[in-house]
Amino acid sequence: MRIVRYAHGNEPRWGVLGDDDKVHAAEGEPWRDLRAGPVVGAPGEVRLLAPVTPSKIVCVGRNYADHAAELGNPVPEEPLIFLKPPSAIVGPADEIVHPARSRRVDPEAELVVVIGRSGRRIPAAEAMSVVGGYTCGNDVTARDLQKSDPQWTRGKGFDTFCPLGPWIDTEFDPSDVRVTCTVNGEVRQDGRTRDFLFDIPTVIAYVSDFARLEPGDVIMTGTPPGVRPVAVGDTITVAVEGLGELTNTVVADG
Ligand code: ZN
Repeated sequence: MRIVRYAHGNEPRWGVLGDDDKVHAAEGEPWRDLRAGPVVGAPGEVRLLAPVTPSKIVCVGRNYADHAAELGNPVPEEPLIFLKPPSAIVGPADEIVHPARSRRVDPEAELVVVIGRSGRRIPAAEAMSVVGGYTCGNDVTARDLQKSDPQWTRGKGFDTFCPLGPWIDTEFDPSDVRVTCTVNGEVRQDGRTRDFLFDIPTVIAYVSDFARLEPGDVIMTGTPPGVRPVAVGDTITVAVEGLGELTNTVVADG
């Protein structure tokens, strides 16, 4: 099933993208008994929102060896975890604001795990049972501020720095899929999830050892090599093979 959120006037609503590729109003509750109801419209006619409202956005840094190397960083010995604020989330087709104070803003294409069931101290062997589905994400980063600040909160946390969507696929197999970032039609980042340094069960076990994972929480699984800055006016597409594409345009601050 592909779960979406869409705008009904100013009100967010849950929906289901049917096999007819139309958005259906959802009946029931996400992560419990969500079902497709009546058709609302085609995705172009309905404004899709980010498909989740997480209590936390957990991110894995340097989860592809080639990406760690390109930024001159060593490969971590255990998962390198940081958080982005939920206030940074925007939806499919929303704009990414290039902060005036940053001289280098990089997109980061990532496969995103969406948690469907609450859990704490989840052993890796049981970790996949708390996964509700997967979506695409862009861990937008002000690289210069990430480097100059002692913590990454500002460089990773500007408003609009976390596009998510366009839907949650509840049946997706993430074990070996291509993840790309395309800017103005040119493929820049290109990797495969089989090259994760820490696989999804390992990350869930590591994170849930310190924080309870709640339904709707997201884990951004790290970005493949090829990161390069974007400029105002650029169009960025994050694609996860077999899952979907998330496209956003960069606009100036203010
Ligand atoms: Zn990232």
